[in-house]
Amino acid sequence: MNPFLNFDRRFQPPLPPRRLYAQVEKIEPLPATQQFSVRLDGVDANWFDQPLNQSLGDGDFFARAPLAAVELELVEPDAAGILGIAWDDILEGGAGPWLTIELLPPTHGYPAIIYTNVFSPEGSSTAVRTPLAQPPARRSTQLRRRFSLRAPKASLHAIRHALGGATASSDGLVVYDIGQGNCNAAVNSAGQPLLYFDFGSPYNSQMHTWSGLRQFCLCQQPAIVLSHWDLDHFASANIDTRALSRPWIVPRQRLGPTHRAFAQQLKNNNCLLVWPKRSSPGAFGPITILECGGTTINDSGLAVIAEGKDRSGNTHQALLPGDARYTAVPGYNTHTFLSLVSPHHGAQMRSSWTPHCPGLTQSRLVHSFGRGNSFRHPRDITRQRHQASGWNDPRINPPRHPSRVRETADRNGGYGHVFIPWDSATAIPPVNCCGNGSLTPTQT
Ligand SMILES: [Zn+2]
Ligand SMILES: [Zn+2]
Repeated sequence: MNPFLNFDRRFQPPLPPRRLYAQVEKIEPLPATQQFSVRLDGVDANWFDQPLNQSLGDGDFFARAPLAAVELELVEPDAAGILGIAWDDILEGGAGPWLTIELLPPTHGYPAIIYTNVFSPEGSSTAVRTPLAQPPARRSTQLRRRFSLRAPKASLHAIRHALGGATASSDGLVVYDIGQGNCNAAVNSAGQPLLYFDFGSPYNSQMHTWSGLRQFCLCQQPAIVLSHWDLDHFASANIDTRALSRPWIVPRQRLGPTHRAFAQQLKNNNCLLVWPKRSSPGAFGPITILECGGTTINDSGLAVIAEGKDRSGNTHQALLPGDARYTAVPGYNTHTFLSLVSPHHGAQMRSSWTPHCPGLTQSRLVHSFGRGNSFRHPRDITRQRHQASGWNDPRINPPRHPSRVRETADRNGGYGHVFIPWDSATAIPPVNCCGNGSLTPTQT
């Protein structure tokens, strides 16, 4: 396993490299500061420059490559001058050029934090020489080749086979409290996941929000659908590493070095199923997988619509959008959703539209986040927009009406897992098989 992704090395991370080849991984606004947190994902440049390392096969290369991430806090007007890339290009989430990052002693350049393990709560203070330069064209080509995912698209037959038991009916959904991140499942009457949607974990600067959940239930041999390539949606598989041997249905997107190394773990286990680009959703019994129509990493991955029946035989649907805004989900306004998980942990989205609450007793809007996250998710504007669509939120309005909103950060006895049943009379299933009770939902 690559040391950068190895949970057991979080308190003994490798020494930071002196020079990195990196790409912009993500940008998040930091509330009330005018600042943005920019994360660059990279590989030790001196190591990559060695011909011997370049000649390694993918298995060895991705097990050994010294990966690292650099985080900077920038204000928009300075960003282009520091990163050497136009701000609009960054925000659009296009391919983005490879950059060379030269690390300097703190105070000798633009201040930054470097991490050499994804699960380390604290990185090392450093500084970077600005503006960042781009490596020679030949090197950029080598980097692009090595880190792009060359995997054939999976057939719908293979995906149906991988979904296996998930095509049976479920009792409801569970939104697991993993901290700042996303991990949802359709569960049977014993609370066992039949299918996971995302398997995330907080990482680095958000690690303080981690719930401590280390063991998941894989008793029903569930597949995992990945919404998009972001650590807070897949990193728990490097905490409970048995999940690396389950089939993963993933979107084809631009991958950074960390994501590519994660994908290699699945490739090594023959568990990587790349969603075929299609115009129509893939329906697999009660599970529909949809490819989102946006351009950014968040908006161009996979969403799931799960279906289930209440005891009167009425069919209900719930939407799991990952970090995609609702309007990026194909057919978003042609369904009535009994329940929702809010996109992007309740971040402010670029679209104000939200689905309407049908107002049934069991209707729920769940925010999946960790208390104390730096992005102040879920944002007040997100709560207000959902409130206006009938998802009554006691944190916005005095509780005159029954609350429809649940939050994974509301922990009770350690965890805040939320059960969303299809029928209002279905009680929370105690999970007896795995985790010594840590997987039993604590709210409904
Ligand atoms: Zn189990
Ligand atoms: Zn996310």
